[in-house]
Amino acid sequence: MIKSIKGTRDILPPESALWSRVENTAREIFERYGFAEVRTPIFESTELFARGVGADTDIVSKEMYTFEDRDERSLTLRPEGTAPVVRAHIEHRLQQETSIAKLYYLGPMFRRERPQKGRYRQFHQIGAEVLGSDNPAIEAEVLEMLQFFLRLLGIQDQTLLVNSIGCPACRPQFLEHLKRSLAEKKTGLCPDCQRRSETNPLRVLDCKVESCQPAIESLPKISDFLDSACRAHFEKFLGYLASRQVAFTIVPRLVRGLDYYTRTTFEITSGALGAQNTLIGGGRYDGLAEALGGPSTKGFGFALGLERILLVLQDRGNPPDPLTPQVYLAPLGERAFDTATLIAKCMRENGIRCFLDFDARSLKSHLRLANKLGSLYALIFGEVELQAGNYQLKQMTNGEQTTLTPDELMRAAESSGQADLRTSILKALFLARSTYHF
Ligand SMILES: [Zn+2]
Ligand SMILES: [Zn+2]
Repeated sequence: MIKSIKGTRDILPPESALWSRVENTAREIFERYGFAEVRTPIFESTELFARGVGADTDIVSKEMYTFEDRDERSLTLRPEGTAPVVRAHIEHRLQQETSIAKLYYLGPMFRRERPQKGRYRQFHQIGAEVLGSDNPAIEAEVLEMLQFFLRLLGIQDQTLLVNSIGCPACRPQFLEHLKRSLAEKKTGLCPDCQRRSETNPLRVLDCKVESCQPAIESLPKISDFLDSACRAHFEKFLGYLASRQVAFTIVPRLVRGLDYYTRTTFEITSGALGAQNTLIGGGRYDGLAEALGGPSTKGFGFALGLERILLVLQDRGNPPDPLTPQVYLAPLGERAFDTATLIAKCMRENGIRCFLDFDARSLKSHLRLANKLGSLYALIFGEVELQAGNYQLKQMTNGEQTTLTPDELMRAAESSGQADLRTSILKALFLARSTYHF
């Protein structure tokens, strides 16, 4: 028996409905804010990620799915979404179309990480990029959008953490002070941090080991080293957040390790899963387009892991939206079944989730199946009832059963305004009868 590959998984119903809900909410909200979808290929030339993510990162050095195709070209399954979007933006000269490009993406990414709970080698991200401007007003709008998006999903307890990491002009002075300070405190740091303080000192700042925290607290803060342009950018950004009434916390230790990241950086966390849990991370990357060999293009964006968001939603008892039938059709007899196919067609064309089984059943067997499927209503009719134009509508939750007459269907069809489910079923039934003459 062939099984799925370690580190991958099937997303099955009913959980898949929750995935759709998150994806649909993202599409709807991002599009309301003027973002348009971009779909880039699943594989790209390896060089794109080596340059765009950084050759000395864990992702590029250890985790990429890289292979040679038959032309001996090195290809890589995309481990993240920003480099491909920026590549597409440069390749198709999207900056000439409008002043800025607002693009979003969603889909699978691939990294060969050690499998553990909630970590997959094929995982899924939703992200967006604003390309072509370094105006901090854009950053504030994106953060407003993200808070709204999470609120709509029911994630209320969210905290926005922000920082500025300066630019290539002012960050080197900070790094020098940081290295010097780390050298003095080295003995008090964990082995990982001892190593990082040589190789990538910025990463010491996000060490989670308890015993490292006092030393980290006393390290120099990048905010003391920002040059006047970076300081002005950060202050404007905070001002725009405040005027949009977006709450935030400044966290001086919030940094990103890669050179092309500049100025604004942020995370949105939620207290749901144990301690602080990062749901979304992002920032400004004004140097990325040039690192990819394109013209200078300012950029700001974010990415979120769908698996992480799903864990939070499920942890809070968000059951997947069950796609149970709204009405179960229970025809009794062969001719009634034929009519039922027309009723089902009409119900479905009019937005009602309708279930019609293919096997002949007794009334008892119909109702047992309707119950098992969790249907809200059952519509029962045999040939005699069809002749008279009468139908039995049973509300499955309380067992209440009423007879629908042609008059009642007519009244429902003539009613206006927002219809409840029962009225919608009656309207569709009326429409089926008048369209197909039964
Ligand atoms: Zn600067
Ligand atoms: Zn440490």
